[in-house]
Amino acid sequence: MNLKETIREIPDYPEKGISFKDITTMLKDSEAFKEVVNQVHENFRDKGITKIVSLESRGFIVGGAVAYLLDAGFVPVRKKGKLPAETVTESYELEYGSDQIEMHLDALTEDDVVLIHDDLLATGGTALAALNLVEKMKVKKVYFSFICDLKFISNGKKDQLSKYETHTLVEY
Ligand code: 5GP
Repeated sequence: MNLKETIREIPDYPEKGISFKDITTMLKDSEAFKEVVNQVHENFRDKGITKIVSLESRGFIVGGAVAYLLDAGFVPVRKKGKLPAETVTESYELEYGSDQIEMHLDALTEDDVVLIHDDLLATGGTALAALNLVEKMKVKKVYFSFICDLKFISNGKKDQLSKYETHTLVEY
């Protein structure tokens, strides 16, 4: 199955010049959704993953399904102020200004093998911030999974991520 064909591109969203990769058309296609979840599961089934760390909000959808299949726990990373208990926080730069993401302080332990999953890797800023959160917990090992990788974007942040084993399904 050609997964790329199930992803819709929206020109000039959220701003002029950006071609947004809309994964909702992939998610509503039952065969495509199953294929994505199965492929991520297949790639990581022998890695001893104990926790899936997923990013709000599109990362939750496939991340949750993969956690179920891997018999792993699910850990949400959310925008600042959304999680109810004590958190660790990480700031990261956006094109204009900065943002903060959080994870519960007790979400991970030193025994965890973590798979960080998000729907799409663009500049790598979000993934690097998630990595910094996870590394505060001194976990055993970290892997990455993205449905899409915008390969035409390359920068220092993506270089920092390149030493981690990463699985992607669709490249642009
Ligand atoms: P980055 O931090 O790597 O620049 O951007 C990745 C984050 O922005 C991800 O959390 C992703 O959900 C969101 N994002 C940026 N561009 C797109 C896009 O074209 N399509 C989708 N689905 N998400 C995007």
